[in-house]
Amino acid sequence: MNRTLAALTALSLLPLATHAAGQNPALEVQADAALRLDTYAWDFVEGITTEVGPRQAGTEAEARGRAWAVAWLKAKGFANVADEPFMMDTWVPGDIARARVTAPFAQDLVVLPLGNSAATPAGGIEAEVVFFRTVDDLRAAPAGSLTGKIAYISHQMRPSQDGSHYGFAGPVRWVGPGIAASKGAIGVVIKSVGTDHHRNPHTGGTSFPEGVTPIPAGALSLPDAENLERMFTRARGKPVTLKLEMNPRALGQTQSGNVVGEIVGSNPLLPPVLLACHIDSWWNSPGAFDDGAGCAIIAAAALHVKHAGVPLRTIRVLMAGAEETGLWGSKAYSTAHLAEPIAVGLESDFGADRVWRFDSNFRESNPALHKKIAAAVARFGVSAGTDPATGGADLNIVRDQKGALVDLQQDGTRYFDLHHTPDDTLDKIDPAQLRQNVAVWTQVVGILANESTAILTGTPVPSAPAIMKTR
Ligand code: ZN
Ligand code: ZN
Repeated sequence: MNRTLAALTALSLLPLATHAAGQNPALEVQADAALRLDTYAWDFVEGITTEVGPRQAGTEAEARGRAWAVAWLKAKGFANVADEPFMMDTWVPGDIARARVTAPFAQDLVVLPLGNSAATPAGGIEAEVVFFRTVDDLRAAPAGSLTGKIAYISHQMRPSQDGSHYGFAGPVRWVGPGIAASKGAIGVVIKSVGTDHHRNPHTGGTSFPEGVTPIPAGALSLPDAENLERMFTRARGKPVTLKLEMNPRALGQTQSGNVVGEIVGSNPLLPPVLLACHIDSWWNSPGAFDDGAGCAIIAAAALHVKHAGVPLRTIRVLMAGAEETGLWGSKAYSTAHLAEPIAVGLESDFGADRVWRFDSNFRESNPALHKKIAAAVARFGVSAGTDPATGGADLNIVRDQKGALVDLQQDGTRYFDLHHTPDDTLDKIDPAQLRQNVAVWTQVVGILANESTAILTGTPVPSAPAIMKTR
């Protein structure tokens, strides 16, 4: 079990041939060793996907996932490991999801409900479909124009390294169903927000505005969505009708939790470095990319930093519950801990492909630290970006504190082939790219956790009295 640890410990005793000026040799050796030898991250993501599987927010399955993570963190030597409970509104998908074109070209389409979708009546709903090429076209539809109809919303999402087309196409899912409902639609289906061509719908959360009654909302797989679109052309003006049946339901309030654990630093007066991921997944996959890998990467990096020497600052991992259905864990963590300052926050929640760019929100306010990190990650093929870091979904506490953020941007080219589909499985993770993530995170977290000045500004902060250092 500890062969890697032994190897890394041995490596850390090797003399260094070269290292960049101002860097910490032990940390560099540890990060380089993690690139070739890390097994912590694979052990975590293999373990949680195999031993737990899907972890729908607020359910018994997510609770098993949290218990699994607590046991793993304790076994690996994390301190102060806990599962901090919170209550949430829980939605479950049910076991019926059917869509069938009934005219003019009768055939079944593959569909899954979106998170927060309403159920259809038993037996389903059947109505004419109104086709919108974009969510903006839907926005432009007159009030009441969808009364008694089913809306279909398309988009033209493409794969991209930075994943930016998620922002371009995402509103189709995030707000499209609510807009359709507000205009009188009795149901809505969307072209899955994704980039693959498998018959796998991409689920994901949607939300209905205050005062708008939720309607049944489903995602069609991309090939099925394209088939439906062709029907509109070939129907030559005849109505296209769809029968939709789904039985998701709201369970009311159930308990979820945030799993936390720490590598305790040597100076308890310094605010901790917070590393975030989310432990829940959608019900339709074991959540290997989203976000088992993220939790694996942050936990592995924290352990490697410790192996390079006890850091000045405490490193806290936050494996948030119930991210997918509305950032419940992120909000609960901020509410519970807002008064406890965080030094800097980082999140891993974009799969397991290589990190290619580093961004911070202190490039201008603490340029020396930004440059130090940039220099340290260059050897892993990571460039320094100029966009201000905004942090991941589970870092509400840092945004609420207006604190320091670092984003380690991963290659998202194939992320949206897998995102929220049954294809999000362990075999999609490339072990070498997973280790590159761990190496980059080890390097960056190690620098931040040994930074004695305020991360955002570079100004001095008080050091611990000698008596506290001995604790
Ligand atoms: Zn995620
Ligand atoms: Zn997700």
